[in-house]
Formats: sequence, structure tokens, C-alpha cells
Amino acid sequence: MTMPLMKPRRKNPVLRTAQMNLPPWARGRTALGMTAAAAEGRFELQVCERCAAVQYPPRDACHRCLAARLVWTAQSGAGELLSETVLHHSNDPFYRERLPWRLGLVRLDAGPTVIVHLHGDVASPVPPQVDAAAASRGTGAPAPPHSGVRVHVGARLDRAGAAVLIGFPPEESEHMADDKMLREMASDPRFRKILVTDGKTAVGQALVQALVRAGAEIVWVGHAEPWKKLAGLDDITALAPVTLVPLDLSDGRSVAELAGEIGGKVDIVVNNAEVHRAFGIAARRGTDAARAEMDINYFGLLRLAQELGPALKARSADGVTHAAAWVNVLSVYALSNYPPHGTFSASKAAAHSLAQCLRAEMRPSGIRVINVFPGPIDDEWNQNLAPPKVAPAALASAIVKALKEGIEDVYPGDVAQEWLERWRDNPKVLERELAAGG
Ligand SMILES: [Zn+2]
Repeated sequence: MTMPLMKPRRKNPVLRTAQMNLPPWARGRTALGMTAAAAEGRFELQVCERCAAVQYPPRDACHRCLAARLVWTAQSGAGELLSETVLHHSNDPFYRERLPWRLGLVRLDAGPTVIVHLHGDVASPVPPQVDAAAASRGTGAPAPPHSGVRVHVGARLDRAGAAVLIGFPPEESEHMADDKMLREMASDPRFRKILVTDGKTAVGQALVQALVRAGAEIVWVGHAEPWKKLAGLDDITALAPVTLVPLDLSDGRSVAELAGEIGGKVDIVVNNAEVHRAFGIAARRGTDAARAEMDINYFGLLRLAQELGPALKARSADGVTHAAAWVNVLSVYALSNYPPHGTFSASKAAAHSLAQCLRAEMRPSGIRVINVFPGPIDDEWNQNLAPPKVAPAALASAIVKALKEGIEDVYPGDVAQEWLERWRDNPKVLERELAAGG
């Protein structure tokens, strides 16, 4: 059984902070299909369209019939552990710093045998009994070994952002997330110090509450106008880990000042600050509203990333509560412009593009950038929109789940899921449908 993680001791500030060494991350183009699915929290393998054989490792032609049409398909992950190996030595710097490390060989019920990182709660397989008498009589081929240890295989992104397979116990246990190997793969909020950039909105407040429930040690909550009393703010400031900090993303000096104060301590940044006005182009004269949206949604992210990014990167190998993740609350309108919210969509598309740049720059340090694409949120700017809308609390739990499970792209809510499917199917068709009102 996994032992619950203990709160780490205060670090000696004189000691050097360990530098990050990434696990091997080079993958071929075909194998990146597995990474793309894992980035959204799914375990997919290729399945042959002609003979239905499940493929592993990823390849260009079916291992059984050589057909070239292999389709990425979600897998249940059910399987049996055949054997385990505990590494006590490795030439790879990442694993060498994290030994001992447990690996297993799992035969999936779907067919292939895969190598997995083994969760500590998976029992060790008993070596199969060889029937020496039957073997000496030479009665037919030996039956395949059975260990009787069932495992559930899931795909996760490792610290380098590449998909790896993990063998979980078939049933969840209480402190499962505290497993040493699993904590290396994800960005669990437990005992971490987190900055939420805007506490005045319903989403910001729901986020703070969800992060505190998930065990965050400190949650700094940004407030652009700290002299103002706002609804709901007292509820979150009453929570012990919460500290209100002045932060105005439209003001470079305000961002720099906050970074100077807490930059060396933040483990997770959640950038939820946004300006949202419901206009297209013709409905409003001038560029003030569009500029305000751009100034927070795009330039705000840029200012924050420039000031907080370097400190975050420097602390990505800093013990069990190392700096881990950067979350951007974007919008599903970033994929394709929704004309009634046209300028807002444009600012989120710009932020999405910048977030991809941030992800590429953070990856060598092992910091995960999580982009969240909610559909319309149940707030004042979508008041006239018919449901379904994403409730702030549901959005907050989707973000905490993504941190815990190491998911990189999150599309919370039915609307976001449906848009994503239509966009994947044909972006041009979606553009026409949105121009015609959805
Ligand atoms: Zn085939």
C-alpha cells in the first residue's frame, strides 16, 4: 500500500537546487499518436482495419496482415502482469537519480505485451510453476505462464511530455497518487505552492477552493484591485492556505513585483485572468474593448510567462514538491471564431498560439503546460446563452484532475467536447456553422 506523502521539510537555502534531467523523449512520428491521445488522458493503440489486430509498439503496417490502415483506438488497459524488474542501476541520468525504479511486462487482454512503469500498489507476480515432468515427456507446447496479478494499464505523459505506459492496480487505493513514480509523471497539487492569477471571478474562486481541497500548501490569489471588497472573496481568504496578492496582468510592473516576491517559491501557475466582452466587429465602434481583451488574455500571459517562467524552470527538479505545471484557461473559441464573441475569440486564439510557444520552451525543463479549452462558462458574459454551460466548480475540478493525471489538453463540458469533435472532423464546416449561429 502506498504510504501517504509527508509534508517535506523546509529546504536549506544554501544548498544547490538540483538540475532537471529529462527521461529519453525522442519518438518517431507514428509513435507520437500515442502521445497525442495521452495528452488528452486516453490510452490508445493502433488497430488494424482489415484484421482487427491490436498493434504495439506503434508501426506503419499491421504485424499480422501487413495492411497499412491502422486506426488509433481507445483501449480498456486490462491485462495481466507477467513479470517485474526493479532497476537498481541505470546509465540514464533521469532514472539514475530516481532509483530504485519498478518496471513490468504486461500481457494486455487485447493481445499485445507491453512494458510499463509499475505502480507500487501492484503485487509482485509469483514465478510460474514449471511442470518438469510434463516438460520432460514433451507433451505439446507449454501453456503460457499465468501470474494471476491483474493490472490496469494507462497512458501518461512523463516529465519530457512523451507518452509512457503505467501499470496501475485494478482497484484504487487511498494514497495511490502519492506513489513516487506517479508523482514524477503528474503535477499533483498536494503540498504544492500555487498562484491563481485572478480571485475575483466565480471560476477563480472555484479554482482556489478545489486546489485547497486537493491539498495545496499555499494558494496565492491575484487581485487587481485589492482595495475593493468583492462578493465571495471573504470565503476564500478565510481558508488557511490562501493569501491575497496584488496582481494586475495589464501592468508589467505589478507582474514583476509579484514575481520578485514569490517567483522563487511558486510550483504551479494557474492563469485564469481574462477579459470577456460579447462583441463582434460591427456591434461596437473603436478598439477599446478588443484592446482590453488582448491586454489581459494575450499580453497578460506573455508578461506572466516572462516574469515567472525562468524561476519555475529552475526549480523543476527540486524534491517531491518540485515546480511542476503552468495552466492556461483558454476557451474553445480559440479553435474557431465564434462571431457573437468575435474579439474575445481572437484574443484567445492569440493566447493559444503563445501557450504552444510556452509549452515548447518549458518542455526541456520538465514543466508541463496545460491548456484548458472550456465551452461557454456559466458567468455574466454568457448570461443570454442557452445551456449547456460549464459551471465554475466543474471547470475547477477538471483542472485539478488534469494536474493529478498529467493531462495536457483539457476540453471541459459537453459544448467543448462537441466543438472539438466538429473541428477535428472539418474546421471549414465548423466555421460555416458558427457563422450561421452555431
Ligand atoms: Zn491486420
